[in-house]
Amino acid sequence: MIDTFRHQGLRKQLVAEIRKKGITDDAVLEAISKVPRHLFLDNAFVDSAYQDKAFPIAAGQTISQPYTVAYQTHLLGLERGQKVLEIGTGSGYQTSVLCEMGAKVFSIERQRELFDKTKKLFEKSLLKYLPKLFYGDGFKGLPAFAPFDKIIITCGAPSIPEELLKQLKIGGIMVCPTGKDVQIMTTVMKKSEGDFEQVEIGEFRFVPMLKNKA
Ligand code: SAH
Repeated sequence: MIDTFRHQGLRKQLVAEIRKKGITDDAVLEAISKVPRHLFLDNAFVDSAYQDKAFPIAAGQTISQPYTVAYQTHLLGLERGQKVLEIGTGSGYQTSVLCEMGAKVFSIERQRELFDKTKKLFEKSLLKYLPKLFYGDGFKGLPAFAPFDKIIITCGAPSIPEELLKQLKIGGIMVCPTGKDVQIMTTVMKKSEGDFEQVEIGEFRFVPMLKNKA
């Protein structure tokens, strides 16, 4: 599948819609305007790819709503070249937005089916991004590649995962939706070893962050 002028036009409309909803971060909006979201959805949903909605992907999971992707990405306060750990690769859409913004992305997925599918997508499609993808349990993070400038969790964590805070650089930020049925978007800034500043923002809904698959 290719990226056409029609797709590009639809992305412009999507960006306008997200801007209206309150996202004013130009770097994030620019990335949303570039990443071809229709490549991350199953054929049945391709026509709706540029609606500001979440959709089902494989293994009972969902591709996050573009507004949510933009919101979480903005909270990370990304600078080009930063090392980012993502928990929940899913379709690879959020991964791609981070890559488009110049981040070096390490992303973990616990569903084998999704991991395999998304890995192939990055290898074969016209996507130019080169994230490092891992099959495993996000609660454990990637100690061998730590520390990270930023950590983004794209599923609902029962509580802030302590192990991941250890893998954050001093001055680094983790964005983590926390809670069971509804999640509170939470940012944690690591001020020094053992000293964290936590800010709770608004309510969102995510699929749950689950343990012990891999
Ligand atoms: N960022 C994705 C969102 C996918 S939904 C996208 O843009 O499409 C969240 C994903 O988190 C699901 O694919 C789910 O399988 C994954 N997940 C849940 N618990 C996890 C864990 N402990 N480790 C890694 N991935 C996990």
